[in-house]
Amino acid sequence: MTPGDASQSERPTLRDRLVAHAASVGVVSSGRPAGDRPARSVDALIIGAGQAGLGVAYWLRRITGLEVQIIERAAVGNSWLERWDSLRLFTPRRFSALPGMPFPAGEDFPSRLEVAEYLRCYADRFRLPVETGHQVRRLTKSGGVFCAETNRADIRARHVVVAGGPFAQPYLPPASRKLDGVVFQLHSADYRRPADVPDGEVVVVGGGNSAAQLALELSPTHRVTMVSPRPPWFLPVTLLGADLYWWLYLTGTLNARTSSPVSRYVRRRGDAIIGTDLRRQVQTGRVRLLTQRVTGASGQDLVLADGSLVPAPNVLWCTGYRPDLRWMDLAGALDRSGEPVHRRGASPVPGLHWMGLPWQTRLNSSIINGVDRDAHATAKRIRAMSTEVGRSPREIRQAQRDLGSLPPDQPGHDRTGRRPGRAR
Ligand SMILES: Cc1cc2nc3c(=O)[nH]c(=O)nc-3n(C[C@H](O)[C@H](O)[C@H](O)COP(=O)(O)OP(=O)(O)OC[C@H]3O[C@@H](n4cnc5c(N)ncnc54)[C@H](O)[C@@H]3O)c2cc1C
Repeated sequence: MTPGDASQSERPTLRDRLVAHAASVGVVSSGRPAGDRPARSVDALIIGAGQAGLGVAYWLRRITGLEVQIIERAAVGNSWLERWDSLRLFTPRRFSALPGMPFPAGEDFPSRLEVAEYLRCYADRFRLPVETGHQVRRLTKSGGVFCAETNRADIRARHVVVAGGPFAQPYLPPASRKLDGVVFQLHSADYRRPADVPDGEVVVVGGGNSAAQLALELSPTHRVTMVSPRPPWFLPVTLLGADLYWWLYLTGTLNARTSSPVSRYVRRRGDAIIGTDLRRQVQTGRVRLLTQRVTGASGQDLVLADGSLVPAPNVLWCTGYRPDLRWMDLAGALDRSGEPVHRRGASPVPGLHWMGLPWQTRLNSSIINGVDRDAHATAKRIRAMSTEVGRSPREIRQAQRDLGSLPPDQPGHDRTGRRPGRAR
């Protein structure tokens, strides 16, 4: 991600269009009373209309012929709408496409609103069956059939793909609860622009791309101290004239298997910070960098691992996220800490599948670039189990023929491991 502006002038229009889209597809969140839809059944239910949910719907419709339904509590691509104003992807657009549709041409690193717009167009183009306004409140299973209870209806399915996003609930470390009440605290999930943070000193806690991007963004207007638990690891945006992602792709790093040595190295070392602007700000003293873990708080100070204190009138926590799965009511689906139990996205609960989890199969599983491969594998797994849904191969073939009106695949799309499609 590189900080930069998300073209403020176009923002209201684009956002309005995206939110309007939420009301135009499927069931409209038009203020109907809760539970207003009749109970119904589909073959495969997908929870979440972000990139992971759309990608798996694309493949399910293309190779299975099963009846698929995506349900979404807000708008298609909602997570991108909720992120901070200046957010641009750290992945270049030609490595940020879903199967079958290249990312449109433009500046190398798309803005968050462009991503949301791309996802909206994607759902429209492939006529993916999205119903918005469904907040899943409980998922249960009985007699081999899942039941998703939403605020609008009960939906039953033999297969459920959970694509609700791995970065759903902001995580705040315990130290945040020990700080004095006068300290201004904000998680990066709630940050939108520098004016959100009171003037003066701000401590940015975290060592990933969010922390780096926001420390940089705040440095012209605030005195910034960044507290990173490990030495930041900077990678240049371009290398020998080609963009970094091109090298990562060519060397097989981008889609390295989770168990590979390179993935193990990255997991140990933490995410690399894409771009070296922050390093320059640190070298020139415009951002103070402390490589320490925050272990506690006392009054208006943060306590670091070596016992030192950092005055913290304002704190911006860039301390990551957890999935939000409080609605999951299936024995064996989650471990004791509430994390999904799975093998390459397949849950031990038969018929339950995960999409978009970090390290689900590969290094790029939780970014757009990795959706195609994991979505295809998930759809194939569901197809292999499809006799369970009571359809014969002949019926499936017929259903596939019925879907023949779907637009054909675009040539050269980025199915990881193949040549990535160029932006149009
Ligand atoms: C700050 C930040 C920057 C990132 N930058 C990049 C980048 O530059 N490049 C890149 O490739 N990746 C990036 N990522 C990682 C990843 O691509 C995004 O997090 C992406 O949004 C994940 O897509 P997803 O479909 O898995 O989940 P989401 O986009 O989060 O979609 C999940 C959807 O499920 C819905 N949902 C969740 N729970 C329920 C429920 N109970 N009922 C109904 N609907 C529900 C949500 O409303 C949401 O629309 C970034 C992530 C973050 C946090």
